[in-house]
Amino acid sequence: MELELAFAGASLNRLDHRRTDHVWLEEQAQKGLYLPLWRGKPLISFDDQGAHLGWVAAEQIAPLRELGATQILLGEAQGQMFFAIDATSLDQPRTRGPLAGAGKMIDARSIAPDLTPGDAAVLAQARSMLQWHHTHPFCARCGAPSELREAGYKRVCTSCSASHFPRTDPVVIMAIHHEGRCLLGRKPMFPPGLFTCLAGFIEPGESIEDAARREALEEAGVRVGEVTYVASQPWPFPSQLMVGLLAEALDDQITVGPDELEDARWFTRDELAKTVAGEHETYRVPPPLAIAHQLMRAWLASLGG
Ligand SMILES: [Zn+2]
Repeated sequence: MELELAFAGASLNRLDHRRTDHVWLEEQAQKGLYLPLWRGKPLISFDDQGAHLGWVAAEQIAPLRELGATQILLGEAQGQMFFAIDATSLDQPRTRGPLAGAGKMIDARSIAPDLTPGDAAVLAQARSMLQWHHTHPFCARCGAPSELREAGYKRVCTSCSASHFPRTDPVVIMAIHHEGRCLLGRKPMFPPGLFTCLAGFIEPGESIEDAARREALEEAGVRVGEVTYVASQPWPFPSQLMVGLLAEALDDQITVGPDELEDARWFTRDELAKTVAGEHETYRVPPPLAIAHQLMRAWLASLGG
């Protein structure tokens, strides 16, 4: 089946082999198109077709570039170069300064479902990269300031010359199943009735399968055997990579861990199908934007018609 994975529709050639060519990069920067993000919110423009990323010409964004705003190369499509630029230093960007009247700054999570997959993927790249620069101004080894290099894909320490690279934090997320039922859990802060797939960060020294089995055991006391990869999804809040799995439980015993979940329960196929369709009177699940929703669909599809 075809999964609809938001943020996973890469449409640009990232040109990583050109990132060290400063002369070429500056030439491109002067004629590039820029996606401004203000406090992590992308500029969005609207037309008859709906919402789009709000691309702005280099001349229009020149005041920001002159202030030394962080900018990164996103990539190229049809000969056009695309960049992202951090517009957070602007005060009231909708009404004042270079972006006045250009569109609206909208929360990435709420606008993503309205964007094309290609636009959402570019947004994920832009948001994760700018967020990384924003939170990593200093060298992790010696504490001195670090500087942006290689079109934004590296920072180098001004004192000890250590190189630092953007992070991607892998997370396992799984539809755990056992004899035709699917395990979902909920945390205390969730809205009433909301259940979702179990998930957790992969720790250093763990395989994807190890992490899936550990998380299932820690969170729900469920022992997992076979683990099957389904799909992955970039999740730019700030920079996770969700690794979507189907995981087969060895039995249906649940022991909810003390710190993690408020509840966990097995959903029958009919219950889950109704819940995913938004038609269950008690339960609900995250929206299609979340890979959890897509994993539930993948599990339902795996049971056949
Ligand atoms: Zn250093």
